[in-house]
Amino acid sequence: MDTSLDSSVADGYRSLSQKARVITEHWASNNLYCAACLSDRLEPLKANTKVVDFCCPECSTRYQLKSKSRSIGNVIANSAYGPKMDAIARGQTPNYLFLCYSPYSWIVTGLFAVPGHFLTPAIVQMRPPLKSTARRAGWVGSNILLGALPPEARVALVTNGHVLPRSEVRQSWSKFAFLGLPESSKGGWGADTLMCIRRIARETGSDRFSLQEFYGRFEGELGVLHPDNRNVRAKMRQQLQVLRDNGVVRFLGRGDYRIV
Ligand SMILES: [Zn+2]
Repeated sequence: MDTSLDSSVADGYRSLSQKARVITEHWASNNLYCAACLSDRLEPLKANTKVVDFCCPECSTRYQLKSKSRSIGNVIANSAYGPKMDAIARGQTPNYLFLCYSPYSWIVTGLFAVPGHFLTPAIVQMRPPLKSTARRAGWVGSNILLGALPPEARVALVTNGHVLPRSEVRQSWSKFAFLGLPESSKGGWGADTLMCIRRIARETGSDRFSLQEFYGRFEGELGVLHPDNRNVRAKMRQQLQVLRDNGVVRFLGRGDYRIV
C-alpha cells in the first residue's frame, strides 16, 4: 500500500469536493485490499454520486468508503436513517472503510475499517428531518457515532501515516468476525453485548461481573435499543454464550463471568 495520493488524476476538475472524490477513489481502487480474506484487491462497484462501494472479487465482502480530509472525528454523517435501521434488524449492514488524508501533501494519514456487524442501534443516531425549504424536505439522515464504538470495532490499516502489515489487519478483522454470523448480527445484539462488557469493565475497574449485575445495568438500556424484542434477558444470555464460545469472556460458574 502506497500512502501517496495522485492529485494529477483530478486536473480537469474545478470544485474541491469533486477533486477530492476523484483523487481518493483513484487511490482506493489501486490500493485497497480485502480485510476479510487474502484478496489483495477490491473492485469499485458502479459509483453513484455520493457513496462508493467496493467489493472483494474473492469473497464478495462489500465495503463502503467514506473519505475526509484531516481527521475522521467521532461522528460522521451517513445515509437515510430508516433503511439503515432495517439493515441492522436484518443483520445486513455494510462494512465501512474510513479514509483520511492531508489535502496539502496528498498523503493518506489514516485508514480504518469498521465491520458492519459493529453498527448497532446504539451507534446510529437519527438526524433531524431536512427543513421544508430543502430540496429533499423531510428526509431523515443518520449519524454514525464512531466515538461510541468498542476499540475492537476499528480495524486499522493505516495509523498516523504508518501502514500496518496485512496479516495483522486480517487477524484483527477475523478475531471478531463471529459477530457477523446471523445469531449475533441480527439487530446488532452481539456487538451491543460486547459494548456492555467493555463498559462494565471500564465503570467497575474489574474484569469480573455477575449475570445479575449485567441484567441490572443493561437490561433497561438494551430493551430501549431493541423495542421489538420481548425477552431481552434471554437474548443477553445467548450473546454472552456466543462471547464465551469465542473466548471474549469466561464462565466461572454460579452466574459469574470473567472478561478475558
Ligand atoms: Zn475478500
